[in-house]
Amino acid sequence: MNVVKTIGEMREQLRRRIREGSAAGEHPVSVGFVPTMGYLHEGHASLLRRARAENDVVVLSVFVNPTQFGPNEDFDRYPRDEARDVQIAREHGVDFVFMPTVAEMYPEKPTVQVTVSGGLTDKLCGKSRPGHFDGVATVVTKLFQIVKPHRAYFGMKDAQQVAVIRKMCADLNIDVEIVPCPTVREPDGLALSSRNVYLSPEERRQALVLYRALEKAGDWLRLPGMTLEELRERVAAEIRTAPLAVIDYVELVTFPSLLPADRLITGDTGDTELLLALAVKFGATRLIDNRLFSKEEWQTLKQE
Ligand code: AMP
Repeated sequence: MNVVKTIGEMREQLRRRIREGSAAGEHPVSVGFVPTMGYLHEGHASLLRRARAENDVVVLSVFVNPTQFGPNEDFDRYPRDEARDVQIAREHGVDFVFMPTVAEMYPEKPTVQVTVSGGLTDKLCGKSRPGHFDGVATVVTKLFQIVKPHRAYFGMKDAQQVAVIRKMCADLNIDVEIVPCPTVREPDGLALSSRNVYLSPEERRQALVLYRALEKAGDWLRLPGMTLEELRERVAAEIRTAPLAVIDYVELVTFPSLLPADRLITGDTGDTELLLALAVKFGATRLIDNRLFSKEEWQTLKQE
C-alpha cells in the first residue's frame, strides 16, 4: 500500500498501476474511490470493503476539506489520526491512500468553483450550512480529476450529499458511477460518525433518540389517517423528549430530487422514495441521521 501526499505523485502512481495491470492482462483496470475526511470508523470501512470487492484498484482519500466548513464550524478541531487511518486502510486492502495537505489542494484561492443551486441545497443541511455543498462539490470534482475513478462510494448517512454528487455527475457529464452504501450503526443504533467522539457520556446516551425517532416513524407511517405533517410533528416531539437535544431540522422530502414530500402522494415527481432526515445538536455537536421509506411503506399516508 502506498501513502501519497501530492497530486503529481498520485497521478503518476495510478498511471503506473494501470499500465502494469493492462500489461498483465487485467483489462480494463477498474479504480474504486472512497473519499473521506479521515478519522476512520466502521462506516468508512464498509465503503472500503465494497470498493475492494468491486474494483482492481482501491483509492482512499483522507482530506479535511476547509471549504466545506462554515466560519463557525469545527474545521480546526475536527478529529484527525493519520497513523490510525493508514493502519485501517492497510487492513482493508487499500492500494493508495491519498492524503494531501490543504496547500496541495488549494495552492491559491480558486477562481473557478462548482456551485450547487436550487432545490437540492435550499433545504436540509444545505440550508443550515450555507456554502457547504459548494465546498463538497468542488473538492469531489477535484478529487475525481486526480483519481479518475470508475466508481466512487458514498454513505447514505449523508443522503443529501449522495443526491448532490449524483446530480453533479449528471449535469457536468462526469463519468463516475456513484455507489450509495447503507448507514452503519453502533449496536444500539447510533449512526457512526467521526463527530461522535465529541459527545459527553450523557449526550451520547441521549443521542440515541435519533435512531429511536426514525424507528418509530416507520410504525407511525402505517397508522390509519397519518399525514406527512403529523408524522413530522411526532418525530420532532420524540426528539424533544431528550432534554439535551436541540433540533436543527426534521424534514420529509422525496429522494433523490429532495422535493417537498407531498409531491410523492400527488404523484408529481419521478421519485418513489420518501426521505426522513434529521439534524440535531447535542451541545456543540451536530448529528445527522435519516431513513428512506419505499413506496410500499409510505403509500398509506393521507394527503393533508
Ligand atoms: P466523512 O469522512 O464524514 O466525510 O465521510 C466519508 C464517507 O463515509 C461519506 O460518503 C459518508 O457518507 C460515509 N459515512 C460516514 N459515516 C457513515 C456511516 N455511519 N455509515 C456509512 N457510511 C458513512
